[in-house]
Amino acid sequence: MSDRDYMVRATALGERVRAFALDATDVVAELQARHDTSAPVTAALGRTAMGALLLAAASLKEEEQLLTADVRGNGPVGRIVVTVNGRGEVRGLVGNPHADAPDVRPGKLNVAGVVGTEGYLAVTRDLGMRETYQGMVELHSGEIGEDFAHYLLKSEQTPSGVGIGVFVDGAGRTAAAGGYMVQILGGLDDNELAAIEARMAALPHPTALLLEGATPEQILERIFPEGYTPGDRYPVSFKCPCSRERFEGGILSLGEAEIERIIAEETAPATEVVCHFCNEKYHFAPHEMQAILDASR
Ligand SMILES: [Zn+2]
Repeated sequence: MSDRDYMVRATALGERVRAFALDATDVVAELQARHDTSAPVTAALGRTAMGALLLAAASLKEEEQLLTADVRGNGPVGRIVVTVNGRGEVRGLVGNPHADAPDVRPGKLNVAGVVGTEGYLAVTRDLGMRETYQGMVELHSGEIGEDFAHYLLKSEQTPSGVGIGVFVDGAGRTAAAGGYMVQILGGLDDNELAAIEARMAALPHPTALLLEGATPEQILERIFPEGYTPGDRYPVSFKCPCSRERFEGGILSLGEAEIERIIAEETAPATEVVCHFCNEKYHFAPHEMQAILDASR
């Protein structure tokens, strides 16, 4: 687990505003490494992961609860799916990790160019006890941060500002990834609202702040110079819960006839199963396939 990455929760203006900020640089670097993503896909996947982490911070109450964000745009990356649990553990997958689009301008990755500007963002919360909630909105810009803000306004009626970014340096390394979310819970007068909006608009890009050494708390101080009330702080990390045992169940779901056909036809020494969320590979030799089948009978 990273020592660097964490989420902080806070409230401000007498609990009429709640805010969240995170540094997820190591999480995004690991997503990039696991999926071998191009620079714009690193940004698209990383922003989706951070959007999901922020939504989870605002809405999951138990460690085992899950939040899934599913971005399906019409761009070359295809589908982006990210799952976060109540412990701040995140994993994700992309349809085409090598999709590319020319930079908008030098140093500005073309996220909408790989995601597309048409499609939808779906968010599903699995709260346990078979309680599942899903909301969906059309993509607003394909830049992901704005799409999460649009989702929160349209689907959850919560006016929110979301600023998230990923900075990939000249060597292709994820050098900074992080951001914030500010939610207006109600009761602000026009001047208070305008002041918050102005500060968010004037804020340097979150990755610029992180590269200068700012912490998530210091990002919140910039948005709430009059002060805020810090809540809890917890680590965020990449984690995939897949295991060899889980894939044994997946193999069984192929059905007996298909497993017997694979065992009979297997020319290579082992069947390889790949987890699409973390690219971990699991190998099953014919005799292991047979043992799984025998154990199920
Ligand atoms: Zn996995």
